[in-house]
Amino acid sequence: MTAKWVYRYDEVDEAESVAGDWEGVRELLGGKGANLGEMTRLGIPVPPGFVVTTEACNAYGEAGGLTDELWSEIEKSMIDLEQRTGKTFGDPNRPLLVACRSGAKFSMPGMMDTVLDIGLNDDVIAAWTKVEGQERFALDSYRRLIQMFGSVVLGVDDEHFEHVMAAARARRGVDADADLTPDELRDVIAEMRAVVERRGSGPMPSEPMAQLRMAIEAVFESWGGKRARDYRNASGIPHDLGTAVNIVTMVFGNSGPNSATGVAMSRNATTGEHHIEGDYLINAQGEDVVAGIRPTSPIDQLADEMPDSYRQFADIADRLERHFGDMQDMEFTIEDGHLWLLQTRSGKRTAQAAVRIAVEMAEEGLITRDQALLRVQPAQIDFFLHPQFTADAKAATTVLATGLNVSPGAATGEIAFDADTAEAWSKDGRRVLLVRQETRPDDVHGMLASAGILTSKGGRTSHAALVARQFGKPAVVGAAELDVDTSARMLTVAGQELHEGDWVSIDGTTGEVFAGELATEVPDLEDEWLSKLMGWADEVRRLGVRANADYPEDARTARAYGAEGIGLCRTEHMFFQPERLPIMQRMIMAESDAERSAAVWELLPFQRKDFAGLFRAMTGLPVIIRLLDPPLHEFLPSFEELIRTSADLHLRLTHAPDLTAAEELTTELREASTTLERVEVLRESNPMLGLRGCRLGIRIPELTRMQTRAMIEATIEVAREGAAPKPKIMIPLACHANEIEVQRQVIDDEARRVMADEGMEVEYEVGTMIEVPRAALTAEEIAWHADFFSFGTNDLTQATMAMSRDDAEPSFLVHYVADDILPDNPFATLDRSGVGRLMGIAVEDARRIEPEMEIGICGEHGGDPRSIALCHELGFDYVSCSPYRVPIARLAAAHAVLVARPTGPR
Ligand code: ADP
Ligand code: MG
Ligand code: MG
Repeated sequence: MTAKWVYRYDEVDEAESVAGDWEGVRELLGGKGANLGEMTRLGIPVPPGFVVTTEACNAYGEAGGLTDELWSEIEKSMIDLEQRTGKTFGDPNRPLLVACRSGAKFSMPGMMDTVLDIGLNDDVIAAWTKVEGQERFALDSYRRLIQMFGSVVLGVDDEHFEHVMAAARARRGVDADADLTPDELRDVIAEMRAVVERRGSGPMPSEPMAQLRMAIEAVFESWGGKRARDYRNASGIPHDLGTAVNIVTMVFGNSGPNSATGVAMSRNATTGEHHIEGDYLINAQGEDVVAGIRPTSPIDQLADEMPDSYRQFADIADRLERHFGDMQDMEFTIEDGHLWLLQTRSGKRTAQAAVRIAVEMAEEGLITRDQALLRVQPAQIDFFLHPQFTADAKAATTVLATGLNVSPGAATGEIAFDADTAEAWSKDGRRVLLVRQETRPDDVHGMLASAGILTSKGGRTSHAALVARQFGKPAVVGAAELDVDTSARMLTVAGQELHEGDWVSIDGTTGEVFAGELATEVPDLEDEWLSKLMGWADEVRRLGVRANADYPEDARTARAYGAEGIGLCRTEHMFFQPERLPIMQRMIMAESDAERSAAVWELLPFQRKDFAGLFRAMTGLPVIIRLLDPPLHEFLPSFEELIRTSADLHLRLTHAPDLTAAEELTTELREASTTLERVEVLRESNPMLGLRGCRLGIRIPELTRMQTRAMIEATIEVAREGAAPKPKIMIPLACHANEIEVQRQVIDDEARRVMADEGMEVEYEVGTMIEVPRAALTAEEIAWHADFFSFGTNDLTQATMAMSRDDAEPSFLVHYVADDILPDNPFATLDRSGVGRLMGIAVEDARRIEPEMEIGICGEHGGDPRSIALCHELGFDYVSCSPYRVPIARLAAAHAVLVARPTGPR
């Protein structure tokens, strides 16, 4: 049996039995063709036509052209189409006209195009223009064919045709193409023909079957073309999918005042409101609506202008939504009062609309709650947590330029044209937006210092785009209208000049660029629909979600966002506060035990207060507090700085004007030398691998004792107030079970002492971070001494990959990801096979000793959806992340359950 290359729209049943399922039909017929078939099956008015399959496209690619077998099938289908429509291809009296439309499984915007009105030639036009009242309509259709065939098939830049149209409108002094007279259209046609002759890759055939054949070939060719290949590479679409070609009988929205063409969404794609949104044009065809040549009318107006068609359309929109279970994006044409659907597909929408639509569709019974959850990507929740430009601010200004929306969010700042300026200004507390033609690796420090990034060149995989996404910076790249002149410190756009220091605003969600400082607002997390969706997520997920919070304020935010406890409180952050830093420094610099001990205990009241605040904010929920884990050098003045100061003091001393000055300088110098000596002693050549984590607590047990006392005292204090503190003490950076045993001894001793002092017993747990490969590998031994594990995946990744994050991210890592040496930034998404494997070993070994062992993650990965899925698979109890990522984690944890579970009907 030979392959079947062509399916009529009313043969979708057969396509389904061949392809197996609906996915297969979409693969075979492409998204556009499959849905046209499905609409035909539902009895919705679709013009008769057929699909040349994606398999035919692949066969074309292999054979290097249309095979005779394929072409004869297409010829037969055309004869069949003639019989069904009662019209004949190329017949001057009853001409059949068709559209040739590409359509792959996934929509590939701007990749492959459509040719309308195939089948027209001078003979057909000569007859058609004689028909009463149709002259203008016929000529308009003809010039469209020449224009589309010329650009899509013969490779003429469409700009040349638009130029002909613009000149004709100008000559006539009108704005609309529809206002051109037949004679003017004749001139247009002649000029367009001349353009084709001059610039086309070959002549345009007048024989309809030849036109059709070339149009089909052009679509198949474009699939293998560079533009399409690049797009597929960038978006991960396989090259062997192929595109289908749709041959559809023409219906005419340009046949007079009773005709129209339009596009509409079944719901509002911006807000999600359940109301049809769209635009249409009377007496127009094809892309006129989106091309912005004439002002369009809002679809609501169609209800007045053509009430019957509107009602019919609204009914169809509703049916399609129910059938496909999703918001539909539809293209339609009304020919002489008769409605035709030309396309339907799932509509693109904003994050806000995605949430509302998913929730309302579940409530309307169109989809299940599980499906609703899967309709919203965790990253979309980000929208509700970050500033966006207010609708008023956007309405009050105009878009300066539009580029690629490569990294979402709104950003506004003063223009800086180079990275050093951006960094310097940001250090001065100014809000900066880095504007460059393109960015390079040595711009990264400036990108990090900026509120957002704007470039005039580059694409979705440019350096600027990759870095921006990696660091969550809003960015717009490739805004080609901008003429950026960094040496002149200015940019020009649409005749406007912007200088360094001027304000500019970018919307990384839409790609828009605005002049000036636009007002932003944080969207409402109390959003009615979001709250419902989050509630459903909580019912589904198995993983708990906690937050990393160091201050009571953060803990309250986290709880409001749904955190179920604190997964990590970093106590070292508490020591950087101005009134505590000097005490901390004294403790580190102390030369005698007595001196050190005094400093340590001075910190106790501060710590107790901090902990009590956290316990109050999280009453009833676990609070994991990590013992001090400071890179000590961060608390001390820099060694280099001290050397410079000393040298400077020396110099000033030799030139001292008088004795008093000399004495003062001598004292200063003596102090500086003492500090310098101490700092030199404490200096480590590799602090990341030095005296940190529990090594410090083991060296200075009093620190651990002080922190334990603060925690237990705070617990008792808060418990006495009637709240329910649940303290969990966490030992950092252990690599050996003995370290935990030793520290645990200190903790338990001190805790007992506090309870005796206070005359009250409270419960607490002692656990450890797993952030060193050796700890993961010896989890079984460690589990004997620890009540819980929390993976510190930042350090674990650094140690496992021997990559310091601070050094890797601004330098080679970007290239590693761009060149696919690494699939992702391992500090953003857990390295499944390496770090993930270590985690798996640790979980399995620990649970062998203690099946109920609580296991979680507190690295930044705890807020990354793909890493959360891995934690779910590994059987973790919870993930912990920054308060602002808690809602994202809640949804991601629900997704982790749902992707493993099949959902209802399509
Ligand atoms: P795209 O994939 O770029 O949307 P389409 O194949 O959908 O391209 O065609 C673009 C437009 O051409 C449609 O929106 C519709 O207005 C018009 N069009 C397509 N097929 C026909 C047809 N058979 N009759 C009239 N207009 C058509
Ligand atoms: Mg379309
Ligand atoms: Mg750590």
